[in-house]
This record gives sequence, C-alpha cells and structure tokens, in this order.
Amino acid sequence: MSGKHSKVCAVTSPRLLDKLTSNAEFSCSICGAKSHDKRSVCEPVPIEPDH
Ligand SMILES: [Zn+2]
Repeated sequence: MSGKHSKVCAVTSPRLLDKLTSNAEFSCSICGAKSHDKRSVCEPVPIEPDH
C-alpha cells in the first residue's frame, strides 16, 4: 500500500474521528473503525442500517 490516503484506523484525533464517523457507511472488520469512505479503513465492510 502507498499509504498516501490516511486510514481512519490510524486516526487518533477524537475530533477528526467524530467527523469521519458521523455518516459512516463502512466499518473495518479488523479494528472496528468506521468511515463514510471505504478507502479510509483497512478492511471495509458495508454497514447495513437495517441491522
Ligand atoms: Zn482497520
């Protein structure tokens, strides 16, 4: 991986995390991080609102 796109998984700023996860559509199956952008987690899994 190039690493030029920062992962939510690696974000430690609570304020930035809150922004990134506010409309999360994907979660990371490895570490549980959430993001609206699947590129921002290391192993994206779609979050299904019905569950
Ligand atoms: Zn992760």
